[in-house]
Amino acid sequence: MVRENMKTVEEKIAAACRRASRDPQEVTLIAVSKTKPVELIQEAIEYGQVDFGENKVQELTGKYEILPKNLRWHMIGHLQRNKVKYIVDKAALIHSVDSLRLAETISMEAQKKNVTVPVLIEVNVAQEESKFGTACEETLDLIEEAAKLPNIRIEGLMTIAPFVDDPEENRPVFRKLKQLSVDIMEKNINNVNVNILSMGMTNDYEVAIEEGATMVRVGTGIFGERDYSPKTMDK
Ligand SMILES: *Cc1c(COP(=O)(O)O)cnc(C)c1O
Repeated sequence: MVRENMKTVEEKIAAACRRASRDPQEVTLIAVSKTKPVELIQEAIEYGQVDFGENKVQELTGKYEILPKNLRWHMIGHLQRNKVKYIVDKAALIHSVDSLRLAETISMEAQKKNVTVPVLIEVNVAQEESKFGTACEETLDLIEEAAKLPNIRIEGLMTIAPFVDDPEENRPVFRKLKQLSVDIMEKNINNVNVNILSMGMTNDYEVAIEEGATMVRVGTGIFGERDYSPKTMDK
């Protein structure tokens, strides 16, 4: 199942790139494996998948320990400051930096481990109250301050678009994140590059690619529906 799904997603990514006259090489597919067992991840690895996304620190570190070390683990979920120390040297990219305090903690823990951590700034473009992320208007200030910190490198922006029936409804959200990245690039801030745009999930990644996504985070479309019942969490 995972193989076929991976192939379908790749084809859809290629088609979206064609529509937007983009090179598919510009788009990285992140397979979101949260709640999914290692066996399913192995199937994706056999297909050639390298980038995986998790939203919980413990699950990311657990899978990191078990699976091959050439994989790239993306922290895509809300990150508590007291857990930063467990992932600074394990996450290939942290997508969810939304406050200066969190950036400071990442910088501090990264210094202790002598690593530099690439991060994205999470922006709550749609201004949903239930979601994390900095407001569009506050993003530039946050980036200017965070850019001064050692051992952390800002590489782009991330957003989680609202859950909608018609993915077209999210097109303005993706367009706005792209525009924000263009505005920030024009400021030429030292140590800051916002080339990465992490946007688009199973429901809307094709629209996100048409609007400039360079990373799409696909879970259900690859691994199937998630089961959050207690029974499966015990495993
Ligand atoms: C779960 C999750 C995804 C993947 O969602 P699907 O709809 O299953 O593709 C993407 N991004 C984030 C931040 C997530 O938490």
